[in-house]
Amino acid sequence: MSPSEEIGLVWFRRDLRLDDNPAWAAATDERRFVVALYVLDPRLLAAAGPYRRRQLIANLQAFDYDLFERTGGRLVVRTGDPVDLVPDAAERLGCGAAWWNADVTPFATRRDDRVRASLEAAGLAVHTSWGSLVQPPGSVLTKKGKLSKVFSAFHRTWSATDWDPWPTPGDAVVYPDPAELIPRLDAPAPLPEGEGEAHRRLAAFLERVDAYDEDRDRPAVEGTSQLSADLRFGLLSPRAVVQAVGEDTPGRAAFVRQLAWRDWYAHLLLERPDLPEREVNDKTAGIPWRNVPAEISAWKGGFTGFPIVDAGMRQLRETGWMHNRVRMITASFLVKDLLVDWRVGERHFRHLLVDGDVPQNAGNWQWVAGTGLDAAPYHRVFNPVTQSRRFDPTGEYIRRWVPELARLSDEAIHAPWEVPALELAGVDVVLGDTYPSPLVDHGDARDRYLAAVAAAAEG
Ligand code: FAD
Repeated sequence: MSPSEEIGLVWFRRDLRLDDNPAWAAATDERRFVVALYVLDPRLLAAAGPYRRRQLIANLQAFDYDLFERTGGRLVVRTGDPVDLVPDAAERLGCGAAWWNADVTPFATRRDDRVRASLEAAGLAVHTSWGSLVQPPGSVLTKKGKLSKVFSAFHRTWSATDWDPWPTPGDAVVYPDPAELIPRLDAPAPLPEGEGEAHRRLAAFLERVDAYDEDRDRPAVEGTSQLSADLRFGLLSPRAVVQAVGEDTPGRAAFVRQLAWRDWYAHLLLERPDLPEREVNDKTAGIPWRNVPAEISAWKGGFTGFPIVDAGMRQLRETGWMHNRVRMITASFLVKDLLVDWRVGERHFRHLLVDGDVPQNAGNWQWVAGTGLDAAPYHRVFNPVTQSRRFDPTGEYIRRWVPELARLSDEAIHAPWEVPALELAGVDVVLGDTYPSPLVDHGDARDRYLAAVAAAAEG
């Protein structure tokens, strides 16, 4: 069909919402008819892991439903390579222009460049905006026009940079034929799906946000927002979240600061597309990793013998989500205690996390490994037992995920190997049988890691 100036195409990707969505607002405002397209890319589905895949499918179903309820139109779903299918849909449906919200991953930017080139070659105008970040890349720079290498400086400029609200949608007629059916779910998604549920989660968090600064590091408490998957899929606009929360109390300000980290890592990935592959700080490259397969498996399964590490890895395995403090502890344990290449952990988290997101995951893994920008110093090695006693003092989080240790006392549960065997037997714990003996001695592992780092530094 020849392109019509009256018909616009909106290619949805990580922005599965109708509210506060700049691409959707612009297209529905500027065109009489709009096609809402989503392309299910089998390569991304395969990489997603079960939790993110189910959440995506459930969110797509909810999005299609919301679209129908609000406009009478449907989400046009196609399965395959967007490089072929976006231009194909535009051509078949006679679209004269296309809109989408940009993304920062190297995969997405390469793909989008190719889609844009095809559409423009066919005579379509392409409009992109940044709908998934508070501040777009390039808008928060140092006086020299660079991305700050220090987060606190980035955060200061980020907070002081104004932004206009994104426009509201127009009343274009939405194309009503869904093309393919959205696949069925093989199991429930981790979270109730859709934009409305995400707003309900935000509203529930607003009831407790003022305690965020105090509770955010305690994994047994519902102290964080658990909005990461909603932001990952774009069910919520990050700007709407900042506006709803504000910065009036220390808890609110601490929360909004986390969204600045999210922007910072996204800006960084655009500048450093090799963030998931290479150490940002060259001086930290070249560590002789051990990468022992049996130890990596024990870590993935939650059988390292360190209760806080095992609790976190089991939470991830069983739910697709893990508390931030425990992400730091488990990641540090893999890299520094087991001397496993941080990329191994980065891939594993990215596969299983329902909020798995390349810039956030790679940025945080490099932070923990001490290889990134403004990262934890590589020579600071988390002691998993000290961390456990400090952030899960009563062992409530451990008891939830490692039930075989549930009857140990609040003091003993963090380090069962320190407890006399007779006392352990009294609560049915036999190390090496009902629960693993620790994989390493933390003190020795720490020395081994520091020696490996020193050897790498000498070249
Ligand atoms: P809250 O504490 O309520 O924070 C609000 C939002 O701020 C989060 O939803 C998230 O979007 C953002 N945020 C919070 N902490 C960070 C952070 N350290 N870096 C960047 N953004 C942050 N987050 C992801 O979204 N995807 C990932 O793949 C991911 N991988 C991680 C891997 C490791 C090793 C570590 C240590 C952290 C990782 N994080 C990742 C960051 C953080 O752990 C999660 O964003 C957070 O636990 C999500 O829970 P929440 O929504 O309750 O967070």
